[in-house]
Amino acid sequence: MKTVWEKYDSKTMKKVMAFSEGYKDFLDHAKTEREAVNKSIELAEKAGFREFKDVKKVKAGDRFYFNNRGKSLALFVIGKKEIEQGVNILGAHIDSPRIDVKLNPLYEDNGLLMIDTHYYGGIKKYQWTARPLSIHGVVCKKDGSVIEVNIGEKEDDPIIEISDLLIHLAKDQMAKNGATVVEGEDLNALAGSIPAKEKDDEKDLVKKNFLDILKKEYGFEEADLISAELELVPSGKARDLGLDRSMVMGYGHDDRICAYTSLAAILETEKPERTSVCILTDKEEIGSIGATGAQSSFFENCLAELIATKGDYNDLRLRHALENSRMLSSDVSAAFDPNYPQVNDPKNAAYFGKGISFNKYTGSRGKSGSNDATAEYIAKIRRILDDNDVSYQFTELGRVDQGGGGTIAYVLANKNMDVVDAGIAVQNMHAPYETASKADIYEAYKAYKVFLKEMD
Ligand code: MN
Ligand code: MN
Repeated sequence: MKTVWEKYDSKTMKKVMAFSEGYKDFLDHAKTEREAVNKSIELAEKAGFREFKDVKKVKAGDRFYFNNRGKSLALFVIGKKEIEQGVNILGAHIDSPRIDVKLNPLYEDNGLLMIDTHYYGGIKKYQWTARPLSIHGVVCKKDGSVIEVNIGEKEDDPIIEISDLLIHLAKDQMAKNGATVVEGEDLNALAGSIPAKEKDDEKDLVKKNFLDILKKEYGFEEADLISAELELVPSGKARDLGLDRSMVMGYGHDDRICAYTSLAAILETEKPERTSVCILTDKEEIGSIGATGAQSSFFENCLAELIATKGDYNDLRLRHALENSRMLSSDVSAAFDPNYPQVNDPKNAAYFGKGISFNKYTGSRGKSGSNDATAEYIAKIRRILDDNDVSYQFTELGRVDQGGGGTIAYVLANKNMDVVDAGIAVQNMHAPYETASKADIYEAYKAYKVFLKEMD
């Protein structure tokens, strides 16, 4: 099979490898949607972006970002054309499957401090047991202060884990089907076992000791967990995979791999014809709903703000901006896996090293719920990619009726704009660690840059 690797000379190879170093660093510092927003703002400000606040006038080349509650972000590079002539949008999501801590999570059971959880997104629950987990998130106190939590990433940090049953006693468990081998309500993390030194007749002394540690070392109390968002994620860094270092294994490729490549593309964009946009959205894994999800009015509000700087805002101008816009809904696709070839139609599967992966439609059961981009729009995309030597593949997520998936594509397409799914193929999607090809990461980044510059 011919892959992109064959077209790279040694100079390009260095660029491909170097680009993934930046991506791995992003992954390591963006394990939650909030961390992804913070890290993206840090990179954007270095590239000359500033927050859109009290801006009265905008001109071509201006660079702004809008921060929605620290959980989703929209970045703009103002183009030479008016906004109502349409903008070019790269959209990706920055939430990933994980294990969220419940609001009343703490209990002691036979001398062990346990943290109760509620998983987030579609996971094979058994994959999240017996591995080091770190705790990321925020604890918001009644006085308005916010404590940022990040425990378990530094080498000498403690970690926690969700235990698994030893194989020696797992006869009944091993006879269950995969969906129930580990049940959702059994995802309780072990987080302590030393009792407080009190009179021995007092109960829950391990929990008391744990609460003392929370108070002393982290500055909050049990009641503050009600107004907290704490996420358990795999501890550890993204790593090169393969002795040739051709791939990256890390937590949360879905979809920070498209978020980072889209972000890198817009940060390098200067004075485009049409306004360039990058939307990094939250809540895709649970339906794109809520204030920080793709279905929120947030993005339309950003467009309205920008149109209003021209002085003659009206709703029709916003409607025109939306319907004249084009978008790449950038999300991961399923890469062919030699261990599980039976789930694909080989003619339409995505392969590592074949470049950015486009899905005209996603959905399941007869394209249900799919955006299904127009053939005309796809022809335009083929033209600009071929003109710029970007490698790409047009693929489907699995065999017909094998399963399927959704992205944010339909959300923006419902605003009457052209949208197609375009992303990077990964193996082990939604597992604690996912795998992607560095060549595909690089080709996606190139595709996103070309799209912002040349799509009209
Ligand atoms: Mn995704
Ligand atoms: Mn997903």
